[in-house]
Amino acid sequence: MRRREFIKKSAVVGVGAYTATKLGIPKLITRSGGKMASPVVISTWNYGMQANETAWKTLMGGANSLDAVEQGVRVIEDDPSIMSVGYGGLPDEETKVTLDASIMDWRGNCGGVGCLQNIKNPISVARKVMERTKHVLLVSEGAYSFALAHGFKPMDLLTDEARKRWLEWKENLSDKDNWLPPHDMNDLEDNHDTIGMLAMDLKGRISGAVTTSGLAWKIHGRVGDSPIIGAGLYVDGKVGAAASTGIGEANMRIVGSHLVVESMRSGMSPQEACEVAIKRAIEVHLKMIKADKSFQLAYIALNTKGEVGGAAIRKGFQYALRNDGTNKLYDSKYLYE
Ligand code: ASP
Repeated sequence: MRRREFIKKSAVVGVGAYTATKLGIPKLITRSGGKMASPVVISTWNYGMQANETAWKTLMGGANSLDAVEQGVRVIEDDPSIMSVGYGGLPDEETKVTLDASIMDWRGNCGGVGCLQNIKNPISVARKVMERTKHVLLVSEGAYSFALAHGFKPMDLLTDEARKRWLEWKENLSDKDNWLPPHDMNDLEDNHDTIGMLAMDLKGRISGAVTTSGLAWKIHGRVGDSPIIGAGLYVDGKVGAAASTGIGEANMRIVGSHLVVESMRSGMSPQEACEVAIKRAIEVHLKMIKADKSFQLAYIALNTKGEVGGAAIRKGFQYALRNDGTNKLYDSKYLYE
């Protein structure tokens, strides 16, 4: 029985790939009357390489960019060794793993979840919010009940490794917690990241997804920038898209992803637009940035021509770019020494 299911599944995958590469693409072009776009996938950090491959395969199977970004970031949510996203993410101060995610497509449809517990794939719950409700953002208990109602299975997201890291933090708790006044934002430990992914499909349609467990040891109930449309993610099908990683509070203050997209609308390249947002963040947070510890914020962007960009406040941010033939990790430009 299992073997038969496997063969059936493999056959479906095979047909899908054939349809996309040999039959599906010409049909798509004729129907839309437009030129075929060259697909692109860009995502944050080195684990973006892995996520890009899944997104790329999804696109090559003939799927649209929304499916591609959802499938791509799910790989990272599922991986317990990545301790800043999904299952295995570092918990808050009460050992609760709380997840934030959002998704947006080229038509302006969007959905997000904040402070979601016990559900491994918040990005898919965000997509359900987008597709099955009139709302954009559900949080906490409400988001959890909504996920259960849609058939998501609850599970404990706290791994042994994450619990050990929490214990170490707790034992050494002093100036490293999140109860510091805002001007001490630099004292947040560097134990947070987000997978943000932007993709363009064969029809030139752009979508984006972001998902994270947010800042480790955060105050319970804290929601970051990732589920906030315009801050963590923004897509305009006629212009392009942007996504963010880094200290969410800094990004929320400038609604950075929206700023990147609006800068592209005014004629800037994705690279120039990312730099505009980073410069704005530096301007707004200058006092905090001057402190000696790490305060990172970064953007990636993609426009409708398939051009990409990336910029960060500090050295160290990388993004992964998948296009025809290559999947490569790039060191991002940074603007603050
Ligand atoms: N932006 C995320 C948050 O503030 C964390 C990160 O990407 O580093 O929740």
